[in-house]
Amino acid sequence: MKTRVLKVDPSNIDADSIREAAEVIKAGGLVAFPTETVYGLGASALDEKAIRKIFTAKGRPQDNPLILHVAAVSQAAEAVEFFPPNAKILIDKFWPGPLTLVMKKSSKVPSVVTGGLDTVAVRMPSDPVALELIRCSNVAIVAPSANISGHPSTTNAQHVIDDLSGKIDLILDSGPCRVGVESTVLDLTISPPAVLRPGGTTLESLRQVLGNVVYSPFLTERPSQPRSPGMKYAHYLPKADMYIVRGNIGDVVKKIRALASEYKKRGISVGVLATDQTASEYEGFAVLSAGNRDRPESIAECFFGILRRFDKMNVSIILSEAIDAEGVGMAVMNRMEKAAAYKFIDA
Ligand code: AMP
Ligand code: MG
Repeated sequence: MKTRVLKVDPSNIDADSIREAAEVIKAGGLVAFPTETVYGLGASALDEKAIRKIFTAKGRPQDNPLILHVAAVSQAAEAVEFFPPNAKILIDKFWPGPLTLVMKKSSKVPSVVTGGLDTVAVRMPSDPVALELIRCSNVAIVAPSANISGHPSTTNAQHVIDDLSGKIDLILDSGPCRVGVESTVLDLTISPPAVLRPGGTTLESLRQVLGNVVYSPFLTERPSQPRSPGMKYAHYLPKADMYIVRGNIGDVVKKIRALASEYKKRGISVGVLATDQTASEYEGFAVLSAGNRDRPESIAECFFGILRRFDKMNVSIILSEAIDAEGVGMAVMNRMEKAAAYKFIDA
């Protein structure tokens, strides 16, 4: 299959391009499209055959459910049995935006979307191109991240081309994603509500609105029966073997320099994933800065792209500085831990 790429300016959206993409969705095809979090791989939420193509194109396990993307609250209402009381408050405050709500599903949602679960995950993205595409398709769009399963998520159209060219019909290219990590997934079927995946909406901001919100205990364990099926699969893996070095930042820098020198001596190519504050400390090594460690949003924005750059540099080992797990830093550390397959070095 030849994959077409259509450029769309998000501040001056070309109606013909959106119409063309919507026609592909309506005809049962697959369209990769930008959201504010990462690029999504979309299909019509009512077309089981099209939805199965998503799993095939990505190599995604069948039991890992998809998020339903809507452009109106009424579309979300059709997908659920009912809105729990706190859903309304959260929708008012955080939609459109990077917050996915897990609720009891209605009979209208095909079970291929939910991996056989009786719950459905729904969100309204804030990206104007995503919203226009959903509106013009006249149907909710199911979309996981537009990457090969197990690879880092895609945050620009080139990443999508690298992973999925030849496997999908169309890519809408409107430049890099603003947030850079996926949405926060919040389970509203239990009390207190639990974060199943930290993401672009912070725990702190959810607590301001709801009071009691917890991180699912499954976030730190690796369970055999997780609440969120996505938790049990390998995720975000770069080609290199990655290690997280944690501790006091001064000690972390010293430790990484010592380890990197050792690898270099042994002829092993090593990359250092650093921050703006520390990158200059690694002169002589292949170093990439993910952003400012005092602004975790800046690191979130670049994180997946940096993993993909290390892939292209063909390093064998990545040594990554840990950052503080506060605000969006929690989502960054969650992705970093998975990318490193939970391998830590204490400085
Ligand atoms: P992705 O679209 O690749 O970012 O993955 C979507 C995430 O949402 C995965 O971690 C899924 O397991 C999770 N998810 C989707 N639907 C549900 C659901 N009904 N219950 C719990 N988690 C879900
Ligand atoms: Mg994904």
